[in-house]
Amino acid sequence: MLTNLTAQPADKILELVGMYRADPRDTKIDLGVGVYKDASGNTPVMRAVKIAEKQLWERETTKSYTGLAGDPAFHDAMIDLVLGTSVARDRIAAVATPGGTGAIRQAMELIKMMSPDAIIWLSNPTWPNHPSIVKYVGLSMREYRYFDAETGGVDFAGMAEDLADAKPGDVVLLHGCCHNPTGANLTLPEWAEVISILQETGATPMIDIAYQGFGDGLEDDAAGVRMVASEMPECLIAASCSKNFGVYRERTGILMAISEDPKNTAVTQGNLAFLNRQNFSFPPDHGARLVTMILTDPELRADWQAELEEVRLNMLSLRKQLALELQTLANSDRFGFLAQHRGMFSRLGTSPEMVAKLRDQHGIYMVSDSRMNIAGLNEESVSILAKAIIDVGI
Ligand code: PMP
Repeated sequence: MLTNLTAQPADKILELVGMYRADPRDTKIDLGVGVYKDASGNTPVMRAVKIAEKQLWERETTKSYTGLAGDPAFHDAMIDLVLGTSVARDRIAAVATPGGTGAIRQAMELIKMMSPDAIIWLSNPTWPNHPSIVKYVGLSMREYRYFDAETGGVDFAGMAEDLADAKPGDVVLLHGCCHNPTGANLTLPEWAEVISILQETGATPMIDIAYQGFGDGLEDDAAGVRMVASEMPECLIAASCSKNFGVYRERTGILMAISEDPKNTAVTQGNLAFLNRQNFSFPPDHGARLVTMILTDPELRADWQAELEEVRLNMLSLRKQLALELQTLANSDRFGFLAQHRGMFSRLGTSPEMVAKLRDQHGIYMVSDSRMNIAGLNEESVSILAKAIIDVGI
């Protein structure tokens, strides 16, 4: 039976990791995989996470199962973090999931149950796992224009035109902040316009928020999500704690489903728990518990927020430095968009051939669509990258 299987296409990013590892040059720079790295190239355990883990080790008396939906205290803490007070709590059903990916997968399965003919609208480009999960679950998809390679910003006119074709029962997937892979984000007036389009078409928004706190700060990064959630009758939200708590391998995420009428929340909650039961039964607890402890303890929370802010400002200063060095070397503002982008990624907007040249001639590794992980840089390698970009003729 196993001989019936055919090989899966190689994952581009993991392939890149392999190539980077095999490169003997000690000047090589890894801007591939989407993990935060400090100036020494490490992905540290955050201070508050370490303290919470110690406390948990001391206090935890059982490893017995939690609920199918996870711990309600985790739901409350995450709803507060992502949505603030923008939506009445009794309209929100929520389940803990294995990471943000788990939340996206559960959302797609829920959509399949509710609206099997739905078209899922995805930004072009988007995180490759979006289309691959949509396809695997057996839903249809369409793309909406998003990135303008000329300006390095959002092609909002194109986006608005494409989304006007959405139909009731369709789902429009939006990145809450720090768009992956481009780094280009909607302004608040643009969010407001997206809401008008959704209201006119009758399509339902789904928001994937995986980098809250990496862009303009915890509150600002959630502003678009909160606006959509408060103004639309229904909304799905998949949130990941992998990046902003640095708990990648703990698999910590949450799916929220907002109903128009609180009367519908219990049935929605039951269906979310049902989906957890079918797919993996109880969700992972360790990461979710740490996140809950941090968010509900004022001291831990303050320390976490301070460290997250250091992370954010570090990436912002690398962006600014890169844009400035390129401005000097190119004697033009054409790379200014790098300082406008937010989050861990920026799409340089160049060809796969140029990306290959950067790799072959300079040992600089980025995804072939020219997505760079800004956190893979430090003050020294920014200059090396800037020179290389000009040297290969981008
Ligand atoms: N959405 C986006 C856009 C992402 O970039 C990621 C992480 N690469 C995720 C969701 C999910 O991350 P995780 O499953 O590790 O929480």
